[in-house]
Amino acid sequence: MTLRRRDFIGASAGALALAGCESSPTIDGGFTGIDVARGHAWRDGAGRGAAPAETRRTRVVIAGGGVAGLAAARALRLAGIEDFVLLELEDGAGGNARGGRVHGIACPLGAHYLPVPGDHAHEVQDLLEELGLRRRVAGRWEYDERHLCHSPQERLFFRGEWQDGLLPLHGVGADTLAQYQRFARRVDALQREAHFTIPAFRAPLTPTVLALDAEPFATWLDREGLSDPQLRWYLDYCCRDDYGAGTAHVSAWAGIHYFASRHGFHPPGDDSGDGEREAVLTWPEGNGWLTQRLAAPLGDRLRAGHVVLRVADVRHGVEVDAWDAATRRVVRWEAERCIVALPAFIAARVVEGPPAFLRQAAAHLQYAPWLVANMHLRGPLQDRPGAAPSWDNVVYGTRGLGYVDARHQTLDPTPRATVLSWYRPLGPSGFDGATAAEGRRRLLDAPWSAWRDELLAELSVPHPDLRELATRIDITRYGHAMAIPTPGLLSQIGLQRPSSGRGQLSNQEQIVRSHGRLQFAHADWAGYSIFEEAFTRGHLAGSVA
Ligand SMILES: Cc1cc2nc3c(=O)[nH]c(=O)nc-3n(C[C@H](O)[C@H](O)[C@H](O)COP(=O)(O)OP(=O)(O)OC[C@H]3O[C@@H](n4cnc5c(N)ncnc54)[C@H](O)[C@@H]3O)c2cc1C
Repeated sequence: MTLRRRDFIGASAGALALAGCESSPTIDGGFTGIDVARGHAWRDGAGRGAAPAETRRTRVVIAGGGVAGLAAARALRLAGIEDFVLLELEDGAGGNARGGRVHGIACPLGAHYLPVPGDHAHEVQDLLEELGLRRRVAGRWEYDERHLCHSPQERLFFRGEWQDGLLPLHGVGADTLAQYQRFARRVDALQREAHFTIPAFRAPLTPTVLALDAEPFATWLDREGLSDPQLRWYLDYCCRDDYGAGTAHVSAWAGIHYFASRHGFHPPGDDSGDGEREAVLTWPEGNGWLTQRLAAPLGDRLRAGHVVLRVADVRHGVEVDAWDAATRRVVRWEAERCIVALPAFIAARVVEGPPAFLRQAAAHLQYAPWLVANMHLRGPLQDRPGAAPSWDNVVYGTRGLGYVDARHQTLDPTPRATVLSWYRPLGPSGFDGATAAEGRRRLLDAPWSAWRDELLAELSVPHPDLRELATRIDITRYGHAMAIPTPGLLSQIGLQRPSSGRGQLSNQEQIVRSHGRLQFAHADWAGYSIFEEAFTRGHLAGSVA
């Protein structure tokens, strides 16, 4: 990606201002949210091979308590199956969609929003109805205004001032505007030609889809002559935001899917956007609002702090061995079946005799590392000129994705303390040429203060008083946050379709990867990670009779 010099000067000014000066000793902080040591102990074989101290029986075991595992638990309950356990490595359920608090203020630790789902995501629509977020009023579906993102939703700090929306507009030339128009027309044409749905498996794998899947998005854009720096920055930002990696690393299918599966791409002057489809649901604690409600009915069937070590399909059922962090013992669960709601690279290690499709997925999937920093401010920030403070606030040309304000949804207008959540993907991008593995190493090795300084350097540009107002920064690290939809995922390993053509399969069987008494459900099986993909797959796995 090429950044024009004058665009970059604004972004780097804060970094220069901080260079050479020691970071403020008044900002406390550290790492939180993920028990890296527990995950690594599992990776290094702790507890494996130990004889179980106890054997228990249940009808179904769910391994992994992220969105997919929680959706599977809900589906079992809907089917009248109450005899199950859900084993989760961390001390609470929710996976990448958990919430936390800094100085008593709720904030997201990971996922923070859910776009209003379209009709292809009817399982998610049903959940939202059950939670009272969606209801029929005079024959039309309406969402609860309190949970829809309040206006103003997004702004961009570009060329020294804030502008509405994230597409760079301030002072851009006619060539840039023409390229915005051209990209919009291409998205529109592809949307009609190929169909893009969420969840993605509900659209057919047509030759157009497979051709898009075969090459990097950046290569496709180059061939289309879409080279404008502002357009390319914006598209790279979108890919890093949804996939954790830049346009050179995700497939053209993923790049187009981002727009075509939802609201399209609307250049300035195009008012054809469907406001309802562009709306998003959000909460101070992010999607933790949803996962807490999914976990609440489980009671002691949710076994947090239980690390799954082994899943085996044996003669008369399944055996699942889990290490209980509290008692430091291995417990064996015997069950009729197991829903493996774990990332594919972990599932491939715990499932005994992993099936070929699992080995293949684990070998091909690349994961983007991520970091989320929640920064407590004791008062409201000063602002640069332009658009008003929004929910999502992005600074052009920076490595981070900007910040969301945890108090944006509050109905109390009094200026007071808040928490800003700063998102920083570490997957491959045009910024420093680092691979995902190098990003992961940096994530693990760098002290928390290095991330504090990077955050302050980026966000001090639009907010010069940030250092004085910040009191604490809590950082959550995700080594393998999400699968990157790299070129070839759909065609080469057929993530979204069964690998064999075993006669007529029902819709459910086609989507849920099964192996004997094991069903696999996780966003990884979509090749990219969003709530709707994780939830639908978990729901379908839980609904298998
Ligand atoms: C920083 C970040 C921001 C995101 N933002 C959004 C967003 O705003 N909107 C959105 O839709 N999506 C977002 N996502 C994507 C998010 O990953 C999905 O929405 C969804 O939460 C994925 O759920 P999952 O169940 O597939 O996976 P996971 O969340 O990965 O769940 C897997 C679970 O398995 C557990 N586990 C792992 N190993 C073991 C073991 N050996 N034993 C027991 N348990 C184990 C894990 O602890 C975890 O709880 C974001 C992701 C990240 C990382």
